[in-house]
Amino acid sequence: MLISLVVPCYNESEALRPFMAELTRVLDSMEGVEAEVILVDDGSRDNTLDVMQDVAKQYPIVRWLSFSRNFGKEGAILAGLQAAKGDYAAVMDADLQDPPALLPDMLKAVREEGYDCAGTRRVSRKGEPPIRSFFARRFYRLINRMSTTQLVDGSRDYKLLSRKALDALISMPEVNRFSKGLYEWIGFRTKWFEFENVERVAGETKWSFWRLFKYSVEGIVAFTTIPLTLSAILGLLFMVISAVALVSLVIRQYLYHNSVDGWTSMVCIILLLSGVQLFCFGIFGQYLAKMYMEIKRRPQYIISRSSDEER
Ligand code: UDP
Ligand code: MG
Repeated sequence: MLISLVVPCYNESEALRPFMAELTRVLDSMEGVEAEVILVDDGSRDNTLDVMQDVAKQYPIVRWLSFSRNFGKEGAILAGLQAAKGDYAAVMDADLQDPPALLPDMLKAVREEGYDCAGTRRVSRKGEPPIRSFFARRFYRLINRMSTTQLVDGSRDYKLLSRKALDALISMPEVNRFSKGLYEWIGFRTKWFEFENVERVAGETKWSFWRLFKYSVEGIVAFTTIPLTLSAILGLLFMVISAVALVSLVIRQYLYHNSVDGWTSMVCIILLLSGVQLFCFGIFGQYLAKMYMEIKRRPQYIISRSSDEER
């Protein structure tokens, strides 16, 4: 029985050693379990790759892949999962924010209790800027209202999957990957594990507010087309309003002959409508852009070096 642990790493040179120490401590305590650790260097700018190679010498269970540039966490997760040989696979962050101590219970759930997926969620967002937590909560409310795929608030990418679930996940061909949604979309029975937020051991977070904002728009566009419908409904609504306004204005003109009045309201209406139009165009644009990227069929990552080649 082999379990593959996929670890996306971007500038994690400081965190990798403490991470491996803690992980191997947990793995050693699990009897009858063989493991491979797949470290994916997502085009780091520091010496993460050197540290990885060192770590691989120290721990023979380690394999590593290195990307030709930074492709983003989604690409790194996919590369790791595709390289995984295990009967089970788990994804976890390199910064120890996903406690390895949960692994034995997660594996037990999938191996013995009939689940195909063990997921984790943070029950607190301690140590996170309050404004970030606020918008994160809004995001989950919004996307769950709009999409039939329900996301779990606070769910992490820290997951353990059976081979079946893993194959389902990597069979999805899309280029714009929003894995929080993909995990839910494939279905299967998931057992949830909860834990308190832990701060990273070393290094710093790569997710600025702006990056998170873009990520959430990506999530919405990837999992629901309701914004398109909404913009159509909005357009219809304004057509009806303008028709009513037109009729009443014509009647007013016949009754009072005072059509020079109302210049202000005219300008207001023009401004409002052009705003709404641009906004709807923006929504179309988002979907069009995603389609454009999808149609190009570009690979989600490019591997420049890997331990498999160099051994
Ligand atoms: N990560 C990555 N590529 C990126 C950004 C992040 O592989 O472009 C990895 C990073 O090394 C870490 C995980 O994704 O293992 C989560 O990132 P981080 O800890 O910065 O996010 P946070 O925990 O603050 O949400
Ligand atoms: Mg982190």
